[in-house]
Amino acid sequence: MTTTTVHQRNLKSYNGSKISTNIKSEKNSQNKNQKIPLCSYSELPEWQKDNEWILHGYVRETNSVVTCVKSMLTYHNETLNIYSHLLPGIGYLLLLLFFTDLVLIPYLVSHMSMNGHEAIDVIDYLMINFYLVGAFLCLMCSSFFHCFKQHSKKHSDMWSKADYMGIVILISASIISLLYYGYYDHLSYFKIFTIITIILGSICSVFVLNDKFNEKDFKIYRATFFILFGFSGILPVGMGFLKFGIVESCKRVQFNYLLLEAVCYITGALIYGFKLPEAFAPGKFDCFGNSHQIFHVFVVLGSLFHLRAVVGSFILMHSGYHTNNLLIF
Ligand SMILES: [Zn+2]
Repeated sequence: MTTTTVHQRNLKSYNGSKISTNIKSEKNSQNKNQKIPLCSYSELPEWQKDNEWILHGYVRETNSVVTCVKSMLTYHNETLNIYSHLLPGIGYLLLLLFFTDLVLIPYLVSHMSMNGHEAIDVIDYLMINFYLVGAFLCLMCSSFFHCFKQHSKKHSDMWSKADYMGIVILISASIISLLYYGYYDHLSYFKIFTIITIILGSICSVFVLNDKFNEKDFKIYRATFFILFGFSGILPVGMGFLKFGIVESCKRVQFNYLLLEAVCYITGALIYGFKLPEAFAPGKFDCFGNSHQIFHVFVVLGSLFHLRAVVGSFILMHSGYHTNNLLIF
């Protein structure tokens, strides 16, 4: 083989690789300009299959954080799941930044100056912010999970654990914040039930961070698990019934709002667990109105009812437990 032949071959292969590189970059630029392609349930890799009654509108494994973020601009079957928790999550962040300082405290100070009730301690209203932090983290973890679950199995597993931890944090923050106001003048009870909640929350975290807990078949058990943890809040309420009587206890923890909250969470969890309504009409609720989206709405409603209960309890605490007025915002 002469030097010229070798040179020509090298040139050919160089030109060939240059052409293939050009084709690749052309494809890439086409992909960049294209919308995220969607696929059906049957086209998904096994790890991505979760709900067999949602037939279309899936973003297939992206292996790219940027593509996952870009997918937020395309309407697919996770879009509502992302935004239904992202927007309320941002709402809770705004409340965290401004609500207590700019709304609640001025309202209460003007109210107290009229009635001459006890002063507001910093911890008093920090407890409301503690709840707002829990709600913010829960909703943001959920939204991030729905955005990045299509990246890869590894990312999906990681974010689903963050999603479940968010629920554990929200339940813990919900119970502890209301415990503080309900047992404001009996702090030893507050401390005991807070320790119990922290222990239960820690046990939950161990389960939630276990890979087995993440498996598809565990869906019903997961829903039951979180309901049971949430229902551990019945213990301090029951103790309150014994200690203060039913009427005063109900006022202390704003029981009517707690009932509405419980109805929201249980209804949402049942709908989520039994995949309603898509189980009865596969393919009809792929991108709008499916169980997970309804579940998200109920979670947000439940969290708002709890916020109302915490704020009501806080105000009541500073306006006298025995008043007949449950202050309304
Ligand atoms: Zn979700």
